[in-house]
Amino acid sequence: MTEKDTIEFPILKDTEKTLQDMKEGQKFIRKIQSGECPKCGTPIEDYGTQELLDFTAYYPFTCKKCGFSGREWYDLTFTGFTDDAGEDVVNEIRAEAHSDDRRHEINFDAKMYFINTSDKELQALEDSGWGGDYPADKVAQYFENTNKEMKKLFDYCRNNDVGYECHVNKEDAILWIKKNRPMYRNDIVAIELKEGKDVEKLYNTLAGALGEQP
Ligand SMILES: [Zn+2]
Repeated sequence: MTEKDTIEFPILKDTEKTLQDMKEGQKFIRKIQSGECPKCGTPIEDYGTQELLDFTAYYPFTCKKCGFSGREWYDLTFTGFTDDAGEDVVNEIRAEAHSDDRRHEINFDAKMYFINTSDKELQALEDSGWGGDYPADKVAQYFENTNKEMKKLFDYCRNNDVGYECHVNKEDAILWIKKNRPMYRNDIVAIELKEGKDVEKLYNTLAGALGEQP
């Protein structure tokens, strides 16, 4: 080895180092994302069969460019039920009505009322605790002409001068509203703003979002 061979080229060396740093930097910055090899970033072309493990799943793959072989993982989150055709399972809103003397007691699905009533009526029902008061009486009344048992209950109450009560299942009601009338609270706030209701009431309406205390 001669003296000449050992001459260093500091500028070139620095350039190489800079290039190396940039490469490292790129490696570090490059986002690991689904569909790309985590080693070299090449799009993954072929995945193996999905494997399920409790609440996770993975797809095995081999990178065509760098040969890295691994598994691409996913979390599985429960999001609800459907029927075999993939259609949403329509929730029932369980409710009951009874004559004050309990000689007539019926269980029914209050869903049609929830579909057809206004936001204001819904709020009145919620504010009354979903039963035992005038807003829930309206729920029972709504079914008088479509539910034979309900008709019997009302006939009995009228003929015998007996009162009645109705209660809607709170959990069913809230679940159904959140899923099917998600704008429920928003619409009420909008109406109240229009009517110039005071700020405190508005705040309570917002804070009192379904089931939560203001
Ligand atoms: Zn690769």
